Amino acid sequence: MKDLSIYIHIPFCKEKCFYCDFLSFKGKEEYFEKYQIALLKEIEEFAILNKNKYIVKTIFIGGGTPSILPIGYIEGIATKIYNLFNVDKNVEFTIEANPGTLSYEKIKSFKDSNINRISVGLQAYQNSLLKKIGRIHTIEEFLQNYENIRKVGFDNVNIDLMFSLPTQTENDFKETLTNISKLQPEHISTYSLILEEGTKFYSMYEKGEFELFSDELDRKLYYMAIDILQKNGYNLYEISNFCKPKKECKHNIVYWTRKEYIGFGLGASSLIDEKRIINTNNFNDYINFKNDREIEILEKRHMYSEFMFLGLRMIKGIKKSDFYKEFNISIDSIYKKEIDKFIKNGLLIEDNDYLRLSKKGIDLSNVVFSEFI
Ligand code: SF4
Repeated sequence: MKDLSIYIHIPFCKEKCFYCDFLSFKGKEEYFEKYQIALLKEIEEFAILNKNKYIVKTIFIGGGTPSILPIGYIEGIATKIYNLFNVDKNVEFTIEANPGTLSYEKIKSFKDSNINRISVGLQAYQNSLLKKIGRIHTIEEFLQNYENIRKVGFDNVNIDLMFSLPTQTENDFKETLTNISKLQPEHISTYSLILEEGTKFYSMYEKGEFELFSDELDRKLYYMAIDILQKNGYNLYEISNFCKPKKECKHNIVYWTRKEYIGFGLGASSLIDEKRIINTNNFNDYINFKNDREIEILEKRHMYSEFMFLGLRMIKGIKKSDFYKEFNISIDSIYKKEIDKFIKNGLLIEDNDYLRLSKKGIDLSNVVFSEFI
């Protein structure tokens, strides 16, 4: 049996955060049930076609805000997966959750559904800032949720944070990092604001309502995060992700190392049998069982480039011998020119079999990645 990871997309949120361009909608509560029916049907169809072909190593229910669903929905999804797939006994099973949508009972129901990892979207530790970025919750609600998550017995928790947010100060971010470190979650993600077209922030920015952080200040905040989190026992293992020893997110590593995964739900993407498949992102079509998928048969060149720009996100880098194992061709015969250039200008470091980004390479990672695309 082959290893498989499963991603499940729940495209509902209470409100749309001002920075967010993810495929998620507010105000669609009346469609929860129809969506669930379409989702379970999609899962079932795949499972029947692929009976006993896979062993499921990781499951990730993301969104949107999966925790917005009333108790019963997530259990329904988990039960379906457990009934139809061979699930590894050491599976990493994550759900994304947002404060403001989480009761003690809901957290307990996640645990009862075999979920063993919760990823909480917090973003910032200041109520005024949370309001300014369109979050629906307060810091007090987050703390209450966090306490309940621990009380229920979750021992693998991620907290998502953001920096370079409009009006955020260095001190705000420092306070966020310090206070979150004190809680000692097993995993912390920190993402810098990216202004995405179509978001509320995008139109506010166009109207001149705020200024973006300079690259210099953005980098300063990033290195402040590394400094504070490392002092508190966290390892930076991917450009934006920190964890306690052995608490890396296995599901995300599947993406970065191009292992196979299947995505179920609106707009979900899959990498399977050397094909990239993307579900329809038309909500009405999806709930009416019309899932026109985009299917791309990956050419070798495309796979090589994914191997490079996804793998180099990890701080330990990529193994040249893994490239050979996967494609039966040496990395140098494809990318010698680019690799030599980046080593020469100090963006890449070669360390025996490994190639990884240097500190300067992390700062200019987009330049490095775009060269491999
Ligand atoms: S809760 Fe998450 S998915 Fe929903 S709008 Fe906010 S950032 Fe986007």
